[in-house]
Amino acid sequence: MSIDLFEIRSRMPSYNPNSNVDDRVRWLPSSNGTYSAFSTLASLRTPHSIIPWFKLVWFPQNIPRMSFILWVAIRGRLSTRDRIHKYDPMAVTTCVLCNSHLESYAHLFFECLFSRAIWTQLMKICGSPWNGLCWNAIIDWASTHWRGNSPATVFFVG
Ligand SMILES: [Zn+2]
Repeated sequence: MSIDLFEIRSRMPSYNPNSNVDDRVRWLPSSNGTYSAFSTLASLRTPHSIIPWFKLVWFPQNIPRMSFILWVAIRGRLSTRDRIHKYDPMAVTTCVLCNSHLESYAHLFFECLFSRAIWTQLMKICGSPWNGLCWNAIIDWASTHWRGNSPATVFFVG
């Protein structure tokens, strides 16, 4: 017995190999011991909780393009002019709607007079308690009140 095997054997005092049974390879991530790509992927993935706004964005009647834009907006990754200005200092930063303020998320969606008028009418139609809520508050509210195929969800996304 080599020194390495002796050391391994000394670390497993309760292990008594049965010389009458052939050795077998077992894939530990799988419950039955056989390899599968699914069990490998499952062992590598970190479980995450379900995002509350998932069904607000992705539902059977969605328009993929609109859902994608909403998803990007919720993640805070729309290319507003203030974000573009961070990597392009020569970029124009004024709001595309009113051409008088810095175009940021807050301004573009809620502070601009044009968008505020649209949001006020839209949220009134959808029955939302619109009182100048911020983006995150609207998404939280919509996630709990507009689920799946409700007309409000279809109206909001599409
Ligand atoms: Zn504006």
